Amino acid sequence: MNASFVSSLSEGRAVYILYFPTSFKIHAVVVNPFRNKELSTSFLEKQFRDACQALGSVPGDLTFHVDYQTTIDAGSKYVQRMLLEYRQQHPGPVIAVIECPKLQDIKASVKALDDFPCVTLPCNARDNSYQALGWQATAGRTSMQRCAASTQWFNERISLSRYAHVPLGNFELDWLLFTADVFFSRALRDQQQVLWISDDGIPDLGGTYEGDTCFADEVIQPALTYPGAYRKVSVELKIHHLAVNSLLKSSQVDEMDGGSIGSFGNDMVPGPHATETDFDDPSLCLPAFQVLKQLIQRCISDAVSSGNVFADAILQHLYRWLCSPQSKLHDPALHRLLHNSVFRDLFEWIELEPLHYWHSLLFMDQYNFGGIQAKTLDADCADCDNDIDIISSWNIAECLPKATQDHFVLIASEFLYIPWKYMREEVAKRATIRDDTSCTPSITVMAAENLEGQVIGYLCDQISNYFAEKLLKIVSDILHHFKGKSKFDSDERSRESDPHTHKGDAALEFIKHICAVLALDQNVQHDILRMRKNLLKLVRVKEFAPEAQFQDPCASFTLPNVICSYCNDCRDLDLCRDSTLQGQEWRCAVPQCGQPYHREQMENALLQVVRQRERLYHLQDLVCLRCRQVKAAHLSEQCSCGGSFRCKEESSHFLSKMRVFLNVAVSQKFELLQDCVQWILEVR
Ligand SMILES: [Zn+2]
Ligand SMILES: [Zn+2]
Repeated sequence: MNASFVSSLSEGRAVYILYFPTSFKIHAVVVNPFRNKELSTSFLEKQFRDACQALGSVPGDLTFHVDYQTTIDAGSKYVQRMLLEYRQQHPGPVIAVIECPKLQDIKASVKALDDFPCVTLPCNARDNSYQALGWQATAGRTSMQRCAASTQWFNERISLSRYAHVPLGNFELDWLLFTADVFFSRALRDQQQVLWISDDGIPDLGGTYEGDTCFADEVIQPALTYPGAYRKVSVELKIHHLAVNSLLKSSQVDEMDGGSIGSFGNDMVPGPHATETDFDDPSLCLPAFQVLKQLIQRCISDAVSSGNVFADAILQHLYRWLCSPQSKLHDPALHRLLHNSVFRDLFEWIELEPLHYWHSLLFMDQYNFGGIQAKTLDADCADCDNDIDIISSWNIAECLPKATQDHFVLIASEFLYIPWKYMREEVAKRATIRDDTSCTPSITVMAAENLEGQVIGYLCDQISNYFAEKLLKIVSDILHHFKGKSKFDSDERSRESDPHTHKGDAALEFIKHICAVLALDQNVQHDILRMRKNLLKLVRVKEFAPEAQFQDPCASFTLPNVICSYCNDCRDLDLCRDSTLQGQEWRCAVPQCGQPYHREQMENALLQVVRQRERLYHLQDLVCLRCRQVKAAHLSEQCSCGGSFRCKEESSHFLSKMRVFLNVAVSQKFELLQDCVQWILEVR
């Protein structure tokens, strides 16, 4: 038997819903300081029915009641009364499932909840923002959806409780982290390993330890970029289970490398004096790593042989669990150990999911690409000509003046589309010729290579005729357009300190950007460079002058493993380039979710990174300018080879990275972070 209790509130307005599935009743209490009453029993009934149908369940024959109150206080008193009444009528075991944004407030105002064992359901922050008008209908609809979903959620929770051997009420909001923690701690105890629990993401492995932790650095996310023009079909894949795979394969890797996954590739030999850096010694966590591996193997057998959905979910979230400081058994050393075994070409348990098919792709990096995308994922689609989208996702264009951005996007798209269209026509032409002579329809390797060469030739032709002329015209237009403006240009620039505004000459920037993109195609790079040289003549800049070199103008920072508190989606956020983060509150990018990220947690994570980087900067090694060896002796002024020393990380490099954090702090109003970075940069 259970009772669900859904509530949401915003500025003196609130909706409380009491759902008693066993007595087939739904009570709605609307708190509204004004007189308008927009919720009716029939409206709620319809919404509930719709919600049940959407979930594929059959709505029972429920009775609905709606009650209006003018204050939150009166509303919670009403709820209190209803619960007490229910308790009297049903003295048997009852469990309360609560979905509510402020659990503590509700528990404080509705004392009757103390008589029930309570289970909490995670709550979406969007449920809580009411619009000014018509809010009652929206809140009513949402609450009915939540009520309908609560039954299913509760049943799942019971099965989970059976699988995990954890009492129903003991699960924390993030059940995946919690269950993985429980499993891992049981396994550690069974193997008589050290068992630690900590709330702050730093493993408590016993011993006295003071001062700051000194972990090597944040784990570098493995990212490999191969820029270029891919004018044949490319597939965008999502890889699942990479972490599980590397765990399973770790022993093999271990043997292959002669046990070297324990070492970080840098020269950290645990010395005879136990120091703080012992935390960084990966061999210390090898036994725990073994235990984890066995645990994962058990989960896999549960998921594969008995089809257990929870075991499968744990495997899917394994990586999140490993890297989240929120998990009670978080150990950064384990996380890094796993990282050392990722990407070693041993794949067994990996799932590849195709996301998009591209007919043609111009790729610079994750944030800078354009392509011709197939709209459907149907590979046999015969007539794909009308079934394409031209995608332009060029973050570098953001730095160009608004007036030239459109030109940039258009040229980049044409550079993709024109040769692609030509190739399709050629293929069609050849097909008809072949039909006439009744040859085999399969294109031989020779013919395919022929066609490729022909397309490249055509593109070269287009560059020297079409593109060169068009670009010359655009550049002279830009020069003309910005000529009169140069006087107050400096004015404009000093006002806008935002990194996204253009610096310097608009025409020069345009040339640099567009040529950098077009030169991605290796086959015609030579022609592009020749065109670039001619374009640069217009702005009187030499081909190899430093100001003519293209640099990605957007220095950024990627915060890894940001987890949505509602849907558990895990992603790495590029704080300056991710288009879903720009110009608004940081939110989960899953379309159905949109839960705002936890600001405090994010600021804290950034603060940790900044402090860690600062510490590493000050503790860095000196290297010899001549032989590149790290300085070993403490007092010598020169290397034994006679060369002089310099810092491994230059201060300009460090400061420019810090400035990225300052920009993020200012734009997101992270005051503590801003304070800290300003102090490092010595700006006030
Ligand atoms: Zn989400
Ligand atoms: Zn030297």
